[in-house]
Amino acid sequence: MNRPWTRRQVLAQMGIAAAAVHTLDPHELCCAVPAYAQTADKELFELRKVGDGLYAAIAATRYKVNCNAAVIVTNDGVVVVDSHSKPSAARALYKEIQGITTKPIRKVINTHFHFDHWQGNEAYAETNPGLEVVASQRTKENLTRPDAGLGGIPFVEKQVASLLPAEIQKLKDDVMRATNPEAKARLESSLQQAEAYLQELKSFKPTLPTRTVSTTMTLQEGGREIQLHVLGRGHTDGDLFIYLPREKVVATGDAFIDWMPFLNDAYPEDWVQTLTALEKLDFAQVIPGHGTVLPKSQLAFFRGYLADLIAAVKKAAGEGASLEEMQKKIGDELAPKYERGMSKYPLGQYRDRIGVNVEMVLKKVVKKA
Ligand SMILES: [Zn+2]
Ligand SMILES: [Zn+2]
Repeated sequence: MNRPWTRRQVLAQMGIAAAAVHTLDPHELCCAVPAYAQTADKELFELRKVGDGLYAAIAATRYKVNCNAAVIVTNDGVVVVDSHSKPSAARALYKEIQGITTKPIRKVINTHFHFDHWQGNEAYAETNPGLEVVASQRTKENLTRPDAGLGGIPFVEKQVASLLPAEIQKLKDDVMRATNPEAKARLESSLQQAEAYLQELKSFKPTLPTRTVSTTMTLQEGGREIQLHVLGRGHTDGDLFIYLPREKVVATGDAFIDWMPFLNDAYPEDWVQTLTALEKLDFAQVIPGHGTVLPKSQLAFFRGYLADLIAAVKKAAGEGASLEEMQKKIGDELAPKYERGMSKYPLGQYRDRIGVNVEMVLKKVVKKA
């Protein structure tokens, strides 16, 4: 599921979803896959070794997106970075980790407050009541702030009260309308997954950070050095980077992904600076929040997109272009350089997000300035 997608696979997977994606609101663009086949738990993640006792758990695409995790095995326990959108996904990964080591999960580190990176925390707390949950101070605050954005306890409540019931109703309508049997089956699977997700969230137990970091912190974990870095605002105002200097690996959450970036809770200009600071660390491989394991060289491409996007929006705004004009013009202008590299997976593709990205930069950079 999570090996590089061929064009054909992508089209097959997207199916009817491709038509629906433009009607989704920006929140859903981040999170929902309108139509995906259900697979066994063991296929939710592919554990890929990136160093000695160090693994990237690459998430397969699901109706509610799961993030990647980093799994760090130490002499006396395991540290897991990020915990997906639901406890059942975290439990599935825990089962896979148990195939590598039976040592307890000592710590979960959350890279930021978005729903798909922390809502599974409780699953690890169930396995170890002494579990430490580590995040930046700002992320801890965002997890309880009503207006934080796309994550936190208030967002769980919003999903249960209104967002998911609406999504479920839409899926039911789409199932009714579907004439192609294959598309219908995929929609039915998505509907099942959406209903199961809602049930899980109804019994959600918020498992918040027990320890926070504001700048940098070095953990000496069972013979391993794990550095935690807050390098500035970016994808959110609390992004945390997890850096293993000996292994030369960094886990970035969504501050660096293999999809188009999601800007709705972001600080676009700060983000470019934060990635420049990240680049100064000596690493070779990246475990991104979504997509596959990346070489450091990919960072310049991702940061280049953000910088070019900001410059293009500023220029177009200076010329008096309307939002609609900008979305069309900039989408086409940046496409030769970025469309292919930003459209490797069925989710988070260039054309799905460029319009909202332009809108967000206009709102956050130009209009605020
Ligand atoms: Zn994410
Ligand atoms: Zn995110």
